[in-house]
Amino acid sequence: MTVLKEMQMETTSVLFDKLTEYDYEQIVFCQDKSTGLKAIIAIHNTTLGPGLGGTRMYHYKNEQDAITDVLRLSRGMTYKAAISGLNLGGAKAVIIGDPRTDKSEAYMRRFGRFVENLNGKYITAEDVGTTTKDMEYIKMETDHVSGLPEIMGGGGDPSPVTAYGVYLGMKACVKEVYGTDSLNGKKILVEGVGKVGSHLVELIAKEGAKIMVADVNDDALARMAKEHNATVVSLQDVFDQDMDIYSPCALGATVNNDSIPQMKCSIVAGAANNQLAREERDGNLLLEKGILYGPDFLINAGGLINVYTELHGYNRDIAMAHTETIYTVTQEIIKKAKTEQIPTYVAANKIAEHRIRSIGNISANYK
Ligand code: NAD
Repeated sequence: MTVLKEMQMETTSVLFDKLTEYDYEQIVFCQDKSTGLKAIIAIHNTTLGPGLGGTRMYHYKNEQDAITDVLRLSRGMTYKAAISGLNLGGAKAVIIGDPRTDKSEAYMRRFGRFVENLNGKYITAEDVGTTTKDMEYIKMETDHVSGLPEIMGGGGDPSPVTAYGVYLGMKACVKEVYGTDSLNGKKILVEGVGKVGSHLVELIAKEGAKIMVADVNDDALARMAKEHNATVVSLQDVFDQDMDIYSPCALGATVNNDSIPQMKCSIVAGAANNQLAREERDGNLLLEKGILYGPDFLINAGGLINVYTELHGYNRDIAMAHTETIYTVTQEIIKKAKTEQIPTYVAANKIAEHRIRSIGNISANYK
């Protein structure tokens, strides 16, 4: 009994150390016996506005993995919202469970009630393992939900908006490296041609890019080859290709100490979250190799901008217009990174932190 108590104390103190280190505001553990719901909501920072971030449902191996994920993801949302000029803070939720078997109307509505209890400090949306249908159930219990279907006044699938932002971020990088932002004739390899990647291929094909595609899904590859004349490359040969731009649009961590030395490109710009396996190491490796990196959390922010727009009455034109700012913000970050000789992701972090601090200061002066 004593040992157990000591272990619990230790775990609590480790968790609080972590919360203090990165200055998290609030963590909510939610459990409901009748539906079997186990969820964690992490609110990292609400200086700029309510914390908005999707609810991820995943069959985590253990609770520690779920806690680590929700802490990492919620902090990332703070930076993504801040750099995108949104009046939002950073938060995220995870549900520990199997999205294929554990969901029910009652389960999602119970989760919705936990969101409601936070009185708008947290706004939820879709993420891996949750769908617009789940958002409809959550909406029955709370208004603090975004990412609803179009028929309910929502923005629907955010992927085309995300792809548009990635395309503009990519063009800003091209302008820096080649002096013009035209993609005509540029050799671009898109890894992952799902919802975002396929829309991106459509945009870059219109500009006359020479497109290569790689994916685990042969049907998706065949469609890209047929519709956009893309060359199919096998996954193990991705980094053997001679390309101008590598665009990771599938999984994270494909930019790492193994892939970077093999890369034959001048730009990395894609949609995937957490592209750098280890931010500090890989950000520096790219810098040393002279490869320009369009920070993922900036250039893939179109999806967040889309759900943010929904909070004020959805309008696709407004979402697209706001997404267009990704071009100039990418330019601003590149300039800062060059002047200070730092990796672009560090420049982006600095600009985000500066915005949070300065808005925090004016808010404090109002009180
Ligand atoms: P998706 O599931 O529709 O597409 C992912 C594609 O990657 C699929 O075609 C899949 O077959 C392929 N894939 C899976 N494993 C692979 C592997 N090992 N190697 C190569 N290809 C693989 O997802 P999506 O919505 O297009 O999102 C793509 C990425 O962008 C994800 O990392 C996601 O987190 C990120 N993102 C998406 C949005 C959005 O609006 N959908 C917004 C921001 C960030």
